[in-house]
Amino acid sequence: MAERIWGGVRERLQQTVSGQHFETWIAPLRASSWNGRCLTVQAPSAFFRDWVRRHHLQVIEAAALEVAGAGVTVEVEVNRALAASSPRPEREPMKARPSRGRVPTAVSAVDPRYTFETFVVGTSNEVAWRAARATVEQPGTRFNPLFVYGGVGLGKTHLLRAIAGGATAERGAESVLSISAEDFVNEMIVALRRDQMEKFRRRFRRIATLAVDDVQFLAGKVRSQEEFTHTFNALHASGRQIILASDRPPHELPGIEEALRSRFASGLLADIRPPDPTLRRELVRRKAVGLHTELPGEVIEFLADHWCENVRQLEGALARIDASASLDGQAITLPLVRETLARFVPVREGRPTIERIVGEVCLTFKVSRAELVSARRTARLTMPRQVAMYLCRRLTDVPLRAIGAGLGGRDHSTVVHGLEVVTQRLAADAALREAVAAVEARLIA
Ligand code: ADP
Ligand code: MG
Repeated sequence: MAERIWGGVRERLQQTVSGQHFETWIAPLRASSWNGRCLTVQAPSAFFRDWVRRHHLQVIEAAALEVAGAGVTVEVEVNRALAASSPRPEREPMKARPSRGRVPTAVSAVDPRYTFETFVVGTSNEVAWRAARATVEQPGTRFNPLFVYGGVGLGKTHLLRAIAGGATAERGAESVLSISAEDFVNEMIVALRRDQMEKFRRRFRRIATLAVDDVQFLAGKVRSQEEFTHTFNALHASGRQIILASDRPPHELPGIEEALRSRFASGLLADIRPPDPTLRRELVRRKAVGLHTELPGEVIEFLADHWCENVRQLEGALARIDASASLDGQAITLPLVRETLARFVPVREGRPTIERIVGEVCLTFKVSRAELVSARRTARLTMPRQVAMYLCRRLTDVPLRAIGAGLGGRDHSTVVHGLEVVTQRLAADAALREAVAAVEARLIA
């Protein structure tokens, strides 16, 4: 059974993972067991296992989901026997790292999934989207560097790929180099070790556009930052376009030398914020086009309210819904969607966010997020809203003013009043006590 599932997964991956990466990292893996929920595959070394976990596990799990249905996870373990029996012993992981001998064109190929057209635009990401397009249309002129920052799953890498694809279409693949900061560091280390720094640098001289993803990865790596600053200066001075993406703005990046930090901040800083309710709905609608069937309106609302803190989360939810609906041949209804997703409450660390508290309160009291943060003051909405205030106060250390802001721009005194009301009602109303305790338990689980 493990082999059958893995066979299906491999087939799918062959279509989604680029040829070289597939040969290097997917083909050598072997299925070892299947327990009805978790597929275990084996890798020839710990390094190999870690690399696959970090770079490919997400796509492997997505493919496994399609093959074996919702709830499937994939584990990678080490089996050294595989290294010995490998038909091509020269494919030892260190050598086969994608960093070696990779030409710039390999990563800047146009991917039709990640273009400016497939990027859904709203107020929270419009500046970044426009600026990204400008770097293709008028490279090296207006926004140089363009520094895009924002939380996970909000489309930074998507925009970088769109830029690389656009620049490739305009000026040819040789003119673009799109690389993650992590690969930059790894390749530099390999070049240093082999005494090939001159060759390493030469790659960057030819290009007109350089896109570097996840520059926060450079934190604390002094030698890499030095080399990167050098590359940056050389390209910038000759009017080449530079685009950088990071999980936070330059001034909040820890472990980055001042010289590099100020270069990061010397062009346009464009942030991507979490989607607002309008964009959430648009994202759900656009992303649902890929499903086999149409989503009912109430499912769209539900997903927009509870499963769209970022776009990656939404895509995961849709994949699960699609898998479980097509598995059981059922129509996609709200109860089915709730049940399917209930098993996937994302694992989170630390304290819940206001966002998440609001989500849970809305679920429990059956109101929508938009209603909860609206100005309306009917009893149906006021009570859950005040419960949300109460839970924010209890479970976070967010100041009252910010709690009010997060709940539809309410002022400090409104929050104080809300807390009083809930505290009194809790003392008198056992049913409410129970409901609030249940929400709280879910939030701190
Ligand atoms: P980040 O790099 O910011 O963590 P990604 O660019 O990898 O996020 O985005 C995660 C997923 O969500 C990708 O599949 C991407 O295509 C999709 N995505 C993110 N933002 C948007 C958007 N505005 N429109 C369409 N798809 C998006
Ligand atoms: Mg990214």
